[in-house]
Amino acid sequence: MILTKHSYCPKCFNTSLELKTSGKVYLYFDGKKKESSIFIYNLENDLQDEINTRLVSRIEDFFKWYGGFDHKLPIKKVEALSPDFKCLDGCSIENNFQPSVVSILFDQKFFESSVRDLASSYGVELDF
Ligand SMILES: [Zn+2]
Repeated sequence: MILTKHSYCPKCFNTSLELKTSGKVYLYFDGKKKESSIFIYNLENDLQDEINTRLVSRIEDFFKWYGGFDHKLPIKKVEALSPDFKCLDGCSIENNFQPSVVSILFDQKFFESSVRDLASSYGVELDF
């Protein structure tokens, strides 16, 4: 069982927003994602290490692909977003509401260091 932090609900503004028990995380690189830039989580069955491993493999998948381009621009922003949040107070949340899961589903430092290490392994420049 993974315990996640709550964040602000966009409707009631209480700190009652939490990740659903299971769902999807999308990785966006400068607002774009590959079809494979996605992984699933299950807070009841997954171990933190398993989520971290999935995260790293999806980041690696993108940089491996992008690193092969001849003319590539530095990446300015990497995001991990999920549409699978719910408000414990029962607010209805719109489908296009996709907050970040960084520091909710995994550690921010782990995320940032994974992004930096993998970008440099595949020759992708970062600009942030
Ligand atoms: Zn709410």
